[in-house]
Amino acid sequence: MYYFYMDAPETLQKAIAFFSDPENAFKAAVEFRWPGGNVTCPRCNGKKHSFIKTRRIWFCYDCKKQFTVKVSTIMEDSPIGLDKWMIAIWMIANCKNGVSSYELGKVLGVRQNTAWFMLHRIRTAMGDTSDFRFGGNEPVEVDETFVGGKPKNMHIAKRMRMKKEGDGFRAPKAIVMGSLDRETRRVRTKVIPDVRRDVLQAEILDQIVPGSKVYTDGWKGYKGLEKQNFIHETVSHINEYVRGQVHTQGIENFWSLLKRSLNGTYVSVEPFHMSRYVNEQAFRFNNRGSKDNKLTDTDRWALLMSQVAGKRMTYAELTGKDTDTVCHPEAGTGQEEPF
Ligand SMILES: [Zn+2]
Repeated sequence: MYYFYMDAPETLQKAIAFFSDPENAFKAAVEFRWPGGNVTCPRCNGKKHSFIKTRRIWFCYDCKKQFTVKVSTIMEDSPIGLDKWMIAIWMIANCKNGVSSYELGKVLGVRQNTAWFMLHRIRTAMGDTSDFRFGGNEPVEVDETFVGGKPKNMHIAKRMRMKKEGDGFRAPKAIVMGSLDRETRRVRTKVIPDVRRDVLQAEILDQIVPGSKVYTDGWKGYKGLEKQNFIHETVSHINEYVRGQVHTQGIENFWSLLKRSLNGTYVSVEPFHMSRYVNEQAFRFNNRGSKDNKLTDTDRWALLMSQVAGKRMTYAELTGKDTDTVCHPEAGTGQEEPF
C-alpha cells in the first residue's frame, strides 16, 4: 500500500483541512501518479531527472523537457491547484447522489464552469476498465432503461430551439444498457443507440461468458438468446416472487440510484454526456462496500486517485467541438500551473 495512504484523511472535513496545505496535496498526487516514488518522465519514460523544489517540477535529462505531476493525467493543462482537485475527486467518489458543478464551485471557490469541466474530467477516470466477462458461475441480470431529458428545468431558449427542431418539448433521452453479475454484485453499463435485438445481443455476447444464465424482462430484443448459447430466463412481473431467483431487481436498483442522481443533482443531462454520468454512478455502486468488503471514503478516494493517471480530456473532446472554434479559459490554456 502507498505510504501516504496511511496518513490520509477520513472525512470530507478533514480532507479539506489536510489538502489545503499544498505540500500535502502535492505529495498525495505524486504518490498515486508514481507509486513507490518511481518518478518517470511522462513523455519519454526517462528516469534521469532533477526536481526543482521551489516550482514543484521536474527537468528530464533525456528529452530535455520539464514535466509536472499533472502531465498525462486528467489534470493536465489545468490551472486549478492540486488542493482543489483532491477535494473534487473526494466528493465525486463519495457523494451518493453525485455532486453538481454549482455545489462543487461553491466548496472550492471556483466558477461553476470550471467545476463543471473538472467533474467531467474526473468522470472519464471513473470508467470501468476491467475486461473480464460477467457470469460463468452465477446468473447475470440484464436490462435497459431510458434516462435524461427533463424539459421543465431547461432554459426557455433551449426549449424553443428544440421545439423548432421538431423535438417538441421533450428533451432527448439516452438509452443505457446494464448488466449485473450476481456473484460479484458489480454492474457494467453502456449507452446504446437503440434497443433492437442485434444491438442488445451483441453486447451480451461481448460481456457475458457463454453458457451463463441470463435474466431479462420479456422485451422481444432479448428473444433467441438461447440460440447464442445462453440459458435465458425472463422475469414475469406478475408472478415474480413465485419464481424466486429469476428477477432483475439488482440492476433495477442501480437504475433507481442513477435516476436519483440524474434527476436530483444533475437535472438536465444531454445524451452526448450521458455515458460519463453513468460511469460515475457505476463507480460508486461497484465500490460501495459490503459486509465482507468494507470500503471507506478514503478507500474510494484512493481508488479514484489511482485511476486518474494516463487519462486526459480536452475541452474539445468533452463538448465534441473542434478546438479551432472553442475558446474556453477553463479548459486549460497550455500555460499550466504545476500546483
Ligand atoms: Zn523525458
